[in-house]
Amino acid sequence: DAPAPGDFIRDIVAQDLAGGRHSRIITRFPPEPNGYLHLGHAKSICLNFGIALENNGRCNLRMDDTNPAKEEVEYVESIIADVRWLIDGWADHCLGLVPAGAKPARSDRDGAAPDYHAAPAAPGAADTAPFFASDYFDALYAYAEQLILKGKAYVCDLSPEETDAYRGAPDQPGRPSPWRDRIIEESLDLFRRMRAGEFPDGARTLRAKIDMASPNVWLRDPLLYRIRHTAHHHAGDGWCVYPLYDYAHCLSDYIEGITHSICTLEFVPHRPLYDWILEALGLPRPLPHQYEFAKLNLAYTLFSKRRLLRLVQEKVVSGWDDPRMPTLSGIRRRGVPAAAVRNFARGVGVTKYDGVTELPVYENAIRDELNRVAHRRLAVLRPLKLTLANIAPGETIECAATNHPGDPALGARPLALTREVYIEADDFAEVPPPKYHRLKPGGEVRLKYACIIKLDEIVKDAAGNITELRCTADLATRSGQPDSNRKVKGTIHWVSARDAVDAEVRLYDRLFTVPEPGADDNYLGHLNPHSVEVLTAKLEPSLKDADAETRYQFERLGYFALDRKDSAPGRPVFNRTITLKDTWAK
Ligand code: ATP
Ligand code: MG
Ligand code: MG
Repeated sequence: DAPAPGDFIRDIVAQDLAGGRHSRIITRFPPEPNGYLHLGHAKSICLNFGIALENNGRCNLRMDDTNPAKEEVEYVESIIADVRWLIDGWADHCLGLVPAGAKPARSDRDGAAPDYHAAPAAPGAADTAPFFASDYFDALYAYAEQLILKGKAYVCDLSPEETDAYRGAPDQPGRPSPWRDRIIEESLDLFRRMRAGEFPDGARTLRAKIDMASPNVWLRDPLLYRIRHTAHHHAGDGWCVYPLYDYAHCLSDYIEGITHSICTLEFVPHRPLYDWILEALGLPRPLPHQYEFAKLNLAYTLFSKRRLLRLVQEKVVSGWDDPRMPTLSGIRRRGVPAAAVRNFARGVGVTKYDGVTELPVYENAIRDELNRVAHRRLAVLRPLKLTLANIAPGETIECAATNHPGDPALGARPLALTREVYIEADDFAEVPPPKYHRLKPGGEVRLKYACIIKLDEIVKDAAGNITELRCTADLATRSGQPDSNRKVKGTIHWVSARDAVDAEVRLYDRLFTVPEPGADDNYLGHLNPHSVEVLTAKLEPSLKDADAETRYQFERLGYFALDRKDSAPGRPVFNRTITLKDTWAK
C-alpha cells in the first residue's frame, strides 16, 4: 500500500509522540455488533489501523456491545472476518486482540478492570479473541459505585419521558431532577438493588451529576446506567443493568490503554462528557483522548445498519452479503479486493467536513486495482453460434493467450480454436450502423488470440431469427504465421463451443436510482428494479478451475469473481464486480 497522506489526526499523533506524551500509540476500532460492517466502517478501520501501522503501535478490535437488545453473535463473527479480510497482509500484525491469560475468568472477577496494560504487547502469538466492552461490565459497575461515593452520580426515579422533559431543549436550561440531591448512601443502596434485579425496566437510572443548565445537552446529568431485564449475547444473563455508550466507551478506552480514540463528527458534543467521566474518577494511568473526523458518505449508497437490516429483512437483497450491498462481506463476495478498499479510503482522506463522495471515486479505485491483478479470460455472455467452415469437426487449432498484457509474470494459457465457437450476439450486426467495426455481412474481424475470420452466410430459422453465422478462418493470420500482421478494424472475443463451460453470470447495477437514497425514509421507493441481471454464459475452459480468490477480467466485459457461496463443482457462478468503464447513463 502507498503511504497515507497526512491529515489532522496524524499530525496530532506525531506531536504526541514527539512531545513524549505517549511512547506507544494504541487505537481501537469499536463496532457495535448490531449489523455487518460496511464501506463507511472501512474508512474508520483504515484510519485506525493505518495510524497503528505507521507508528509501530496497535489497534484493538473491540465489540462495543453494551446494548443487548440489538446485538448478536452472528454479527460478532462477521465483524471479525471482515476486519481480518480488510487488513490482511497490510496491518494484520497491528491487530490488537485479547492476549491469552489477560482476561480474568468470569468466576474470579471482583470488579477490578482486567489489566490489559500489563498484558504482553507483542501481537500475534498469544492473541485469541477481540476485546468486548461487555467484558468490562464488572469494572464499569465498580467505577459507577465510585462515582456515587464521590457524589458525582445519583440514582434518579424519573421515568424516561420525564427525564427527557426535564432535560429540556438546547436553547433553554433544563430542570434538575427532584432526586438530584439524594444522599450518597441512598443512591448506593438503590444502585445495588437495581443491579440485584429489584426494579422493573425503566423504573430508575443512574445519572452523572454535571450541569442541568449546560448549553451542551449531553452534560445535563446524562444517564450512565439503565435497567434492562435482558440476557446479553456475550456477558450471559448475569446482568439487568446496562451502561450507556458514553459511560462505557471512555472507560473501555481507558482499560485498554487506548491513546487516541478516533470517532466520527457526531460525537463532538459527547467529548466533554468523555473527559468528565474519566477525570471525575481520578484515574491513575494516562487518559485516552477523543478525536473526530467526517464520516464517509457515498453517492447512491445507504450506510445505516438499521436501514441495511431492513433490506435484508424485507428480502430486497438475498442477505447481508448480497453482492449489491455496501457491506464488506457483500463487496468481498462481489470480488472487490481489500487493497482497492484501502486505496479508496486513503484517497478519500480524513477531514473535519462532511461531504458525499461520488461513486466513480470508489469504482475507479476498484478498476485500478483489478486492472493490475486480474487474469484475462474470454467469456461470452449472450452467445451467438459461429461455424468456421474450413476447420474440420473435431479439429483443434492451438492458440495461446497471455494472462495479463502488462504483467508477463502471470504467464499464458493455451486456447483451442474449433469449428464451432460462440461470439457475443451484439458483436454482429446484420444492418450495421456507421463505423461498426465488428462482424457484419461480407466483413472481417479478428478473433482475439486466434485469427481473422470472414462472414460468408447468415443462417436463420423459419421465424427469421439468426441461428448461426457461417464464416471462414484465415489461419495464416495466427500469431507466428506469415500473415499475422494483417490488420482488420475489429477484434472480438469468443469461446470454443466444444470446450465451453456453462456458468451463471450475474451483472450488477447500483441498488438505488437516486444519489442520496438515505435522504428520507422512503429509501425502499428508490430501488433500482434492474440492479441484477442473471445470464447463462459460455466461458473458456480454463475457468472450470477458477477459484474465488483469483480476480478475472472477462475481456471487453468487465471484472468478474467466482461466487464463493453459490458456485458448485462443475457449475460455477460468477459475479461481475465492475464494468471496464463507467457506463451508467446519467
Ligand atoms: P451505522 O450508523 O451505520 O449503524 P455506527 O456508527 O452506528 O454505524 P458502529 O458500529 O458504532 O456503527 O461503528 C463503529 C465505528 O465505525 C465507529 O467508530 C464509527 O464512528 C465508525 N463509522 C461508522 N460509520 C462510518 C462512516 N460512514 N464513515 C466512517 N466511519 C464510520
Ligand atoms: Mg455506534
Ligand atoms: Mg448505529
